[in-house]
Amino acid sequence: MSDIKEQIERMMKLKAGIRNKVQAKKTRPEGDISKRDSSALRRIQNLRNQFNGVDKSYLEPAKSIPIIDSCDVLVVGAGPAGLSAAVAAARAGADTMLIERFGCFGGVISTVGMETLGWYRYEGTQDCSGIGIEMEKMAARMNPNSVKFAFNDSECLDAEMFKIVADQLVNENGIRPLLHTFVVDAIMEGKIIKGVVVECKSGRMAIEAKRVIDCSGDADVAYFAGAQIRQNKKKDAMGMTPVFNTSGVNSIKFKKHIQKFPATYADWSDGEWKQETTGKENGLKSPYLSKEFKKAQIDGVIPTNLGREGQNTIGGTWSGITDAGEATNLNLVHLKGFDPLNVRDLTQAEMLGRKNTLHALAGLQHAVPGFELAKIRNFGMTIGVRDSRKIIGEYNLTRKDVLGQGRFIDSIGIFPEFVDGYNILVLPTSGRYFHVPYRCMVSPDVSNLLVAGRCVSGDNTSHAAMRNMMACCVTGQGAGVAAAISIREKTSTNNVNIIKVQEELKNQGVRIK
Ligand SMILES: Cc1cc2nc3c(=O)[nH]c(=O)nc-3n(C[C@H](O)[C@H](O)[C@H](O)COP(=O)(O)OP(=O)(O)OC[C@H]3O[C@@H](n4cnc5c(N)ncnc54)[C@H](O)[C@@H]3O)c2cc1C
Repeated sequence: MSDIKEQIERMMKLKAGIRNKVQAKKTRPEGDISKRDSSALRRIQNLRNQFNGVDKSYLEPAKSIPIIDSCDVLVVGAGPAGLSAAVAAARAGADTMLIERFGCFGGVISTVGMETLGWYRYEGTQDCSGIGIEMEKMAARMNPNSVKFAFNDSECLDAEMFKIVADQLVNENGIRPLLHTFVVDAIMEGKIIKGVVVECKSGRMAIEAKRVIDCSGDADVAYFAGAQIRQNKKKDAMGMTPVFNTSGVNSIKFKKHIQKFPATYADWSDGEWKQETTGKENGLKSPYLSKEFKKAQIDGVIPTNLGREGQNTIGGTWSGITDAGEATNLNLVHLKGFDPLNVRDLTQAEMLGRKNTLHALAGLQHAVPGFELAKIRNFGMTIGVRDSRKIIGEYNLTRKDVLGQGRFIDSIGIFPEFVDGYNILVLPTSGRYFHVPYRCMVSPDVSNLLVAGRCVSGDNTSHAAMRNMMACCVTGQGAGVAAAISIREKTSTNNVNIIKVQEELKNQGVRIK
């Protein structure tokens, strides 16, 4: 049966409230799945694997914990996806709570320091619309000293200011927040999620919810709830980065240097690895530093061997350069081969990342005009993770979908043809775009749970598109609206009437087709 015919039939059934058993075989991405047992036992097994088969255990006594709150829609994780989900659900009329493990909202933006929400937006881009664009504009409006991305019309969000922007979004939309709160388990009734267990300074407690949206980036809630997930092997996963910011930069001198010797996207492929592009990207200017670090290595300022068999590298992008002499969002130190879901790997990566940042700083001071007197202003609050768990959803987005203008009847938004990761770079200068299907946020294993952000279902190339912050906002808003509509219509999120979801998304200013 053709894809479109199949979609129409599915759509008719959806409208009639009938849902087929998922054709997992057909839509499951191939090659990179670690199949997991969807039982609670897998958590113990995974821990044992992480800690070298340790066989000692402690039998934790069962205890009663207080249910401290309940709500319609509970959003876990307040990155671009979680913020969008919470705002969208609240605007669609749901009593919405937003839980975040750190002390601020914003996710990778405010906790890692990643400011480039719309950097892909070169001339010719058919962009998405909705809360992501609203956040970008709001951040620029609220910061009189906001700076633009060097080579196109997108904003560099100020990561620190964004904490305040996000506070305002939460307050203005009547979202009930809980910061410093870590979700550690899912409350299940059979296959239906009923809430979550959290840990925080107040202790261990439970929160009940009619619908839960997992925006943790790592699909934590889906994993706790027993949903099937996949994770790339360490050697195949995208690397982690400790993003840092410097002060003491002579911005005039640096900008002159960049004008004279601009890097292009062709420079991203610098011999250490080959990058696939469509060719049209290669000549575009890019805020990229790589040759400078090679020079510093040749001159003996930083070691030629950064260790771990070439898995540690220095070179990458910068974004904000202020007149006050700050260079922010320095995305230069890359560490591959660590598992971001293994606390020992995380510990090592944080420490090694800081050590290699000193090498990066030495390279900047030595070889980049304007950085001679630069010093580290700060690191992000945490190392940045690009790649961890993804759910196996009702539909698994594919390379063909994101690079072939995928069209879906259950579209909850569009995203331009922008792919950045796994050695592929495609910038959306052609006006091409794809539909984001609702089903990539739905786990067939758990009812009333939606997953939005970088952990939606799909293969690696689709991850390289969907992990981008603006795409995370698209899925966040779609999930928030769908959760609210499913409550209003008294259906589960797995059977929600997609037409009604699309109507509400359009009311919220989202482009669906
Ligand atoms: C170094 C780096 C550079 C990048 N560069 C770009 C770029 O230039 N442009 C771009 O668009 N994208 C970029 N990305 C990708 C992008 O930032 C992420 O994919 C995106 O932020 C994911 O959004 P999210 O909302 O799904 O998750 P996140 O932004 O990761 O937010 C998840 C939130 O959930 C919280 N959380 C996690 N687990 C729990 C739990 N159990 N309980 C409670 N809270 C929890 C986290 O603290 C976090 O705040 C980059 C990523 C990295 C790491």
